[in-house]
Amino acid sequence: MKRYGRTTVHEFLGDFVVYRGLVPLDERLPPLDEVRRETNVPEGIIPRKGDPAYGRVIAHVLQRAQELNVPGAPIERLMYIGDTRMSDGNAFAAIGRAGRWPGTAFIASETEKAGRPEIVEQRNAKLYLANRWSAIAEFEGFFLKQGLSIDERTAIVVDLDKTTLGARGRNDHVINQARVEAVRRTVENLLGAEFDQASFQIAYDRLNRSEFHPFTADNQDYLAYICLVLGAGLYELDALLERVRAGQMRTFRQFIAEVDERTCDLPASLREIHERIYGRVQEGDPTPFKAFRRNEYITTVDRMGCLGDDASVEELLAEEILITQEVREAALRWKAAGALLFGLSDKPDEASMPGQELALQGYHSIHRMETDAVGSG
Ligand SMILES: [Mg+2]
Repeated sequence: MKRYGRTTVHEFLGDFVVYRGLVPLDERLPPLDEVRRETNVPEGIIPRKGDPAYGRVIAHVLQRAQELNVPGAPIERLMYIGDTRMSDGNAFAAIGRAGRWPGTAFIASETEKAGRPEIVEQRNAKLYLANRWSAIAEFEGFFLKQGLSIDERTAIVVDLDKTTLGARGRNDHVINQARVEAVRRTVENLLGAEFDQASFQIAYDRLNRSEFHPFTADNQDYLAYICLVLGAGLYELDALLERVRAGQMRTFRQFIAEVDERTCDLPASLREIHERIYGRVQEGDPTPFKAFRRNEYITTVDRMGCLGDDASVEELLAEEILITQEVREAALRWKAAGALLFGLSDKPDEASMPGQELALQGYHSIHRMETDAVGSG
């Protein structure tokens, strides 16, 4: 593994990037709200990765981007680079179906074990599953062997989270650390002197387990809110988990509605934040804890390009969120061949872009922040 210097995701994707809100950063491309009718997405809904509607929106945006990239040359084939078989595989299948484009997806997660890439069909889409990021070079050969060329009529969709940044199995733990740190900071700021680091860590680790996903919906905003309420002493962790296991506390909505019945037990300083979050939950906002997501933006960019030039590759892998050199190198090559490169991120917009105040201080969207590129190249 080698260090390839500092760069940004913007170097190879430009502003052809969307975060979870489906508003392309390149202002020449239409935001979700302008394409709801053509793509048949009802008002108030932001489709999630893997939904058929997500595929329709992205396919539409890709076509519009292609008109800017190479006018008059419609997309004829699709490549997808990601790290998660279910969500990336399904997103690839949905985009391909919506655009009627043939293609193949490369899905990697690095492991110590040796092993050949596996080719599987999922939702009628072909996935190339690898356990090394460096296998992207062999995958390119596989793509070409399918009779699919890489040229001005090829759209290449690249996942950002744990693919382009913080490669899964290699560097993704730093992204997780940034998120936990954001939850901790948010809860600590709100609880002040009442905050207890040890009980917070126990509660977070327990609730973050997949066993409790039906309750937390695997949603970090919900988890942060539950940790806040536990920290305020409204519930006792073991008793709450017991009720979840016994099926008496089934969903987060049930939990927050119950807290709402007991707001008199909440410290006065937390009532306002509770009201705000509860209001957004009732409106269907999937990221209702805005203070947490703003902290996540800060704890994420704090881990980008944060180490000095003398840091070793091991230190970089352990502490920085890095650009995956194998993905960068391939993307630059494909871009030079005329392909359309486009980046998708599932990170909420509030956690991906600076607010006005931070923007004035020189902060940028995550894809424009500098960090080190590391990989086997
Ligand atoms: Mg990902």
